[in-house]
Amino acid sequence: MTYNNAMAKKGLDVPAEITGLCRAIRDAGHEAYLIGGCVRDLLLDREPKDWDITTNATPEQIQSLFEETFYENKFGTVGVVTKSENPRLKVVEITPYRVEGKYSNARHPDEVTFSTNLSDDLKRRDFTVNAIAYDPIEKELVDEHGGQDDLRRRVIAAVGDADERFQEDALRTLRAIRFSAELDFALDAKTAAAIAKDADRLGKISKERIRDEFVRILESDRPMQAMYVAQKLGILKYVIPQLEEAIGVEQNQAHSYDVFEHLLRSLQHAADKKWPLEVRLAALLHDIGKPASRRWSDEKKDWTFHGHEVIGARMAEKILHDLRMPNETIKTVVALIRWHMFFSDPDKVTLSAVRRIITNVGVEHINDLLNLRICDRIGTGRPKEQPFRLRKYMSMVDEAMRDPVTVSMLKIDGKKVMDLGEKPGPRIGWTLHALLEEVLDDPSRNTEEYLERRAGELLKVSEEELKALGEQGKDRREKEDEAEVQKLRDKHHVN
Ligand code: ATP
Ligand code: MG
Repeated sequence: MTYNNAMAKKGLDVPAEITGLCRAIRDAGHEAYLIGGCVRDLLLDREPKDWDITTNATPEQIQSLFEETFYENKFGTVGVVTKSENPRLKVVEITPYRVEGKYSNARHPDEVTFSTNLSDDLKRRDFTVNAIAYDPIEKELVDEHGGQDDLRRRVIAAVGDADERFQEDALRTLRAIRFSAELDFALDAKTAAAIAKDADRLGKISKERIRDEFVRILESDRPMQAMYVAQKLGILKYVIPQLEEAIGVEQNQAHSYDVFEHLLRSLQHAADKKWPLEVRLAALLHDIGKPASRRWSDEKKDWTFHGHEVIGARMAEKILHDLRMPNETIKTVVALIRWHMFFSDPDKVTLSAVRRIITNVGVEHINDLLNLRICDRIGTGRPKEQPFRLRKYMSMVDEAMRDPVTVSMLKIDGKKVMDLGEKPGPRIGWTLHALLEEVLDDPSRNTEEYLERRAGELLKVSEEELKALGEQGKDRREKEDEAEVQKLRDKHHVN
């Protein structure tokens, strides 16, 4: 893994486009090095995500060398558009050497200062493994902070004094955990101690920056370990404080772990299966409502958590909103959590109940919901991943999907409703949803004849009534949720 003589002769495996860019910069009399993640990944035999070049040329000099460039940020980075087919090479970022600016708020440097000296630029980088430069023309590495040693030791260590570096930019504390999760590296002891010392400074960092690193942790192969470490070092409370409430919350007999460990194990299973971000987030948060809804049952002689999925869905919505997650992601994760307790006994459940679950989470996420159930089961510490009953339920889902579960699956559409005399406007949607409710109850109603007759009758229904019919599914769910929350409040003697 360390760059040795044999590798030096052959050089690292750099695409011709990148070497070409470096050559052009050098031919104009400047220096050009690959830097950061791409050098680290090449040395680890991993495929680099993107290619970054650093140089002593100014942004203006860089721009003058290439046909198509853009320069629109305050860090001096110039994007060079190449003619490459490879999406990772289409735009290559070239950044002048920089020195660490003065940070007055642990957030952003107050100013960006360029330098003519590569060493300055290496010094301002976060971790030793990210501070190795490589010249693809001379096939030479510049490693002034022991980056290769740390690659060999598989350790994330700050460049220079860890405490100072985290005080400059507290996001680095979370980045350290992110890189250790992605690369399966340990945290260097001094670096870990400095993270614990400076964790509170993360409170000043923008949620958007925290979100980006947190998402990378979740998308790594080892999110469980990373979340444990984040908690131990005092960082978790600046990412999802509500998760700390789950620590030590004992569960019922069916579980081997407390709520916190159960959630992390569920998340890890989603990662082991390479399931998408939404499933990972839902796995991590699906029982977040348990601490607030836990009650002791004298009758059962055990803990109960009635309504935790309703409370949990609401909490998750706030958590994800606070983290500035995209609305589409929030919507999906909240629905998965809201419905994760779906009744799945294939011997007792009706097809119409299965159809309603599909309507509730959406056709495109029913698989995610089943996968979430698998994560949940594995997270309890029970060995069987996909018991016979869940497989049987899956085949019921397939069967249920043959009947309409969405408006677009009805044998009538908005155009037809208009042909029958309805004027354009919200009444069309309400009519279709009212018809879907009827068909969910009884799929044999999904015929042109029945639906056109009913649509004709609905033409005469008042605006108010039609809206109520169209939104009855939504209203019913909201009423049920409100009732659950109220029950919990009553039990809790709060209002
Ligand atoms: P990947 O592309 O796999 O995410 P990366 O190492 O390229 O990994 P980036 O976040 O793209 O990570 O950052 C590029 C490089 O810029 C890093 O390798 C590091 O040298 C430097 N860097 C990024 N953010 C910081 C920071 N907050 N403080 C110091 N250096 C940083
Ligand atoms: Mg990068």
